[in-house]
Amino acid sequence: MLVGDRFDDEGYSGATLDRPALERLLGVVRSGGVDRVVVYRLDRLSRSLRHFVQLSEELRNHNVALTIVSAPMLGAAALDNMMLNVMASFAEFEREMTATRMAEAREYLKSHGRRVAGAVPFGYSADPRTKQLVVVPEEAEIVSRMFQWSAAKMTPSTIAALANSQGWRTRNNTRWTPRQVQYTLTNYVYAGLVLDGYGFRKGCHEGLITKEIYDQVQALLAERRSRKPGRAKAAIPWPLLGLVCCGSCGRPLSTHTIRRGSVIYQYYRCRSTAGGREPCKGVLVRAHEVESAVLQAAGLEQSGLTSKEEEATFQSAIRQVVFEADTGRIQIDFRPEVSSPAVSLA
Ligand SMILES: [Zn+2]
Repeated sequence: MLVGDRFDDEGYSGATLDRPALERLLGVVRSGGVDRVVVYRLDRLSRSLRHFVQLSEELRNHNVALTIVSAPMLGAAALDNMMLNVMASFAEFEREMTATRMAEAREYLKSHGRRVAGAVPFGYSADPRTKQLVVVPEEAEIVSRMFQWSAAKMTPSTIAALANSQGWRTRNNTRWTPRQVQYTLTNYVYAGLVLDGYGFRKGCHEGLITKEIYDQVQALLAERRSRKPGRAKAAIPWPLLGLVCCGSCGRPLSTHTIRRGSVIYQYYRCRSTAGGREPCKGVLVRAHEVESAVLQAAGLEQSGLTSKEEEATFQSAIRQVVFEADTGRIQIDFRPEVSSPAVSLA
């Protein structure tokens, strides 16, 4: 006996489950109002495998049979068999798709100047829902003062001393080191910028200082670096090179530098094509971010190691560091013979 109702979603795509007539049909199915659903073609019901699995499970749970007019040979037994295969291959397919979707989402967010992952810079917190940067006023004040002092030609050492004398502490409640001050002063996030693989662009977050002050400070820092003899020519240190790996594909991250005027920004990124595989998209992390996380895990963040000592320590104490680009997590695998986090220098 035909139910008088028709369930047509004119103009709606079969690619979505969000269709009013389909909703209405499911309502009738759930209330036990029908014992058979007739569709002309399978793709009128759903064009997506996953939706189809959901729908057919729903029908089965309510003992509602499905007839596909254009494929009458698909009886109940054949359909059940097919479902098992479909569900198994779908689960596999879904896993493969997830990786691609994450990469696409990251690209999208980046191209719109939004934050993706990684450590939240001092001065900000991450909105728990949108993951975007929100200004923390007390910390923002400290950042802005540091930039002002630097623009007034104070060195990072002086600024660190001054900050500590004010009782200011870093996010980990430690005293400011010149190195941390230097890192803060070169962070473009504070000028409201974000970086993708192609260059800087305006971010969605609020900057803490003007672009003018930021540029002025970069120029002063660069000038100070080049005044030190022998320093300008020194090789750029990469203490984690060979140790830091990509969490997505497991390959070692390579190095990447971006020069902006005389400032050099250092990154680790996944660009390996070893084994004929494609490089991961969007795996790019500020070198200092990983290095300071490792120093902290080793209990060495206050030890004032030179970059040479840092490199020796890392290479002798660490087996592997895995950077997960999707979550910004950094996993550190210490060598077993190093039992305590207090790593001794070779
Ligand atoms: Zn990778």
